[in-house]
Amino acid sequence: MAINYINNFQDLYSIYEGVDHYQNCPKCNRIVEPKLIACSKTYDIDEQPYLTLVLECSNVKCENLYLISYEIYTGYKKDILGYVSSYPYNFDAYKDVQVEQISTSFIKIYNEALEAETIGFLSICGAGYRKSLEFLIKDFIIFINTDNQSFNIEEVRSSKSVVKLIKKCIDNPKIVTAAEKAFWIGNDETHYEREWEDMNLQDLKNLIELVIYHIKMELVMNDYTEKLKR
Ligand SMILES: [Zn+2]
Repeated sequence: MAINYINNFQDLYSIYEGVDHYQNCPKCNRIVEPKLIACSKTYDIDEQPYLTLVLECSNVKCENLYLISYEIYTGYKKDILGYVSSYPYNFDAYKDVQVEQISTSFIKIYNEALEAETIGFLSICGAGYRKSLEFLIKDFIIFINTDNQSFNIEEVRSSKSVVKLIKKCIDNPKIVTAAEKAFWIGNDETHYEREWEDMNLQDLKNLIELVIYHIKMELVMNDYTEKLKR
């Protein structure tokens, strides 16, 4: 590991643009003015350069050391830093009581993907989000068929084509559209070549959020339809 002995922000600013995120101490969660102890430039196997800052928190009750990693891109006048991860890292887990009633597996897998993304495992977290979506959809179909005597639960559990399942078992067109598109993007995260090149991880997460939103809306609607009958 090549240690570069830049130890003040002035020198860092003179070489790089996009030096940010360093003021959030991941240990005490405060906005601080950290001391730059050192920084290190390294390369991954694709020769993509990275810069890691070693910082000391200025909060006297904390004073912990922490790391911030950036990818380095060539810029016009200065090189540009793109935030990748921090260590230790703040991990804000996804929680939703209503969704948990439908699928605890979704919450578990989604949070594993979120954690992988938080620590910078960007190549694998997409596959995790896609898997979480499959559990959400299948568990939702099972959930809405709880009282359906002729419902074949095994067929849903073992189905290899979730998109077909969505179209067959879900009536709400908003859930069908959002879920189908989420699967298209999600499948891109697991394949060698991308079909939807303009779409990224954030789009996949947005679509999953949309699926959750419409599922929750449907459950609220069903609840009131049941309670307010004439
Ligand atoms: Zn701190």
